[in-house]
Amino acid sequence: MTDASQDLSALRASLVARLEGLRAASETTAENRRPVELDQTSVGRLSRMDAMQVQAMALATERRRHEEVRRVEAAIKRIDEGEYGYCIACGEEIAAKRLEVDPTVATCIVCASGARG
Ligand SMILES: [Zn+2]
Repeated sequence: MTDASQDLSALRASLVARLEGLRAASETTAENRRPVELDQTSVGRLSRMDAMQVQAMALATERRRHEEVRRVEAAIKRIDEGEYGYCIACGEEIAAKRLEVDPTVATCIVCASGARG
């Protein structure tokens, strides 16, 4: 086993852990995203406006979380297919620094900036 494949399996493990964390967070906050109307009795001291604001924030967080889940899942898939580290748009290698900042990044800096294609 080469160093690179060891790095990749460690990375895959950390991505899987991140995925599980995201899914767990999604489940534990599901209550906050329920429609306010159906939840009047349990709102307690919160005013309806506050409750709606909490719900809106929870929905926004959940949208971001879904986006991240998709990116992490795609990165794991690319690892499994031996495509990890290569730009999905142009096939060039993605700079190691860029992957360090965000291991789920799928495009090289050139494609990400829209300078090509
Ligand atoms: Zn590219």
